[in-house]
Amino acid sequence: MINFLPLLYEDELLVSVIARYKQMCGMVSKRALEMDLFRIYKRMGRKSVLFPQYLNTLISNLPPMSKLTVEEIILNHTMYPFFTAFLSVERTKEVFYGMADGYGKSIENAVGMAGSKVKSNDYLKYCPLCFREDLQELGESYWRRLPQTPGALYCPKHLVLYKYSNVIITDARSDYLCADEDTCNDDLDVDTYPKQLKNLNLKYIENVSYLLTNNLQRKSHSFIIDFYIDRLRERKLASANGSIYIDELLKAFLEYYPAEYLKIMQSEIVPEQQTNWLRLFVRNNRKNRSPLRHLLFLQFLDIHVSELFNTGVVVGKRTVDVARVPKFNIEERRKEWLKIINENPGLNRSELKRIGKGLHTWIYANDQEWYEEVTPKINKRKKRSSTVDWEKRDKECLALAKKAVNELLNANGKPIRIMPSTIRKTVGAKRWFDNEKLVRTRKFIEEVTEDIDSYRERKIRWAIEEMNRKGERITVYKIGLKAGFGGGNKPIKEKIYYLLKENYLGLL
Ligand SMILES: [Zn+2]
Repeated sequence: MINFLPLLYEDELLVSVIARYKQMCGMVSKRALEMDLFRIYKRMGRKSVLFPQYLNTLISNLPPMSKLTVEEIILNHTMYPFFTAFLSVERTKEVFYGMADGYGKSIENAVGMAGSKVKSNDYLKYCPLCFREDLQELGESYWRRLPQTPGALYCPKHLVLYKYSNVIITDARSDYLCADEDTCNDDLDVDTYPKQLKNLNLKYIENVSYLLTNNLQRKSHSFIIDFYIDRLRERKLASANGSIYIDELLKAFLEYYPAEYLKIMQSEIVPEQQTNWLRLFVRNNRKNRSPLRHLLFLQFLDIHVSELFNTGVVVGKRTVDVARVPKFNIEERRKEWLKIINENPGLNRSELKRIGKGLHTWIYANDQEWYEEVTPKINKRKKRSSTVDWEKRDKECLALAKKAVNELLNANGKPIRIMPSTIRKTVGAKRWFDNEKLVRTRKFIEEVTEDIDSYRERKIRWAIEEMNRKGERITVYKIGLKAGFGGGNKPIKEKIYYLLKENYLGLL
């Protein structure tokens, strides 16, 4: 059991917070650290940078008030969301539970990284300007997930190139190292890429970020292929029955992406080659496809990755039976469909589909362009249930707040001021904690909030007691320094003097 774990920053890799923990504790032994966290020393995947395992064990070793969950770690602090996005539901679950319970082998294999032509970086990457800002704003920096994604060249916030640190990912013997002055610096790498390439990559990163921050309902392999065929058909790169015009596709793809960019993205194409990756990619085989290539392909189709995951129905290949004489002609069917739309205003597509079931199937398969044109797109927002029992929540929050104040008052080290923000932070809650419906909690927080004078007094008392405990020589000036006031502030010096005289006369 460990006493604390630093709060995880946004997009921070799990190994990064472990490194910060190690540094804060001043731990030297990697082995002791791993025993503390995972109760194990030599086990596969214990310290994989991208896909850590045995997270249930880790959670059970955290302090009881820690709110961190296995799911939160996997979704927000590992590369899981990116590398499983295009896998089936079953495979994704296998990976999830492998990370939670331990998998016995490396997850990198399970997600197809090992056999992929698209390799991950050997060293941790970072943005030099994020690094600089972190040091200024947080006093420390940390390893983020986004720069570790294959193909992510630019920081989307600062628009500068990511850089390699000297921390190797692939060697299991390596230590837990922080993103600090030993491993990073804020010098910029010279950017010689053309602007077009930069823009292509920033668009790619936008999709990567979306995958990393959204827990999407996975689609089956055949769904994804059918989705691609449908989009290619719309662009006249596939026939009506779904056969792909591969030469035209290759040509269009190479017009969209410069060869230089494809090379950087580990996805070069030699059009004549029968086995070039794009030929294989659009075929309905079970071959492993890197998420990077899915994103390249979607971007080429000018489709945001969210569209794939939000699509409900796909057609894919179909047999167009020319000999069959339709029971109704197309005009009649169109008329029928329009009637359904007009008689049911406000319904969304799947509701309309339910009403005109057979008709919908026919029109969607045979007359899709027209269907898209006339059928309204209505996204009904799901209503959030507003049945919060505020009284109950208030009671729970009050208990949390009391506990937090207790913790703050009894924390080791320099006193932390008791105020709404520090209480909220200690509870580990977000803004909702300030909701005005939490009447008793708010009243309690208001009552315990320290004014600046009381807080100063508490700091001074703490400094005196600390110095006394350590047997240091006590002077007004030294107390001021210890309590963090600097030495020169006159009213504070007077306050210290007064407190000393009143309460600690024996020490003088
Ligand atoms: Zn940056």
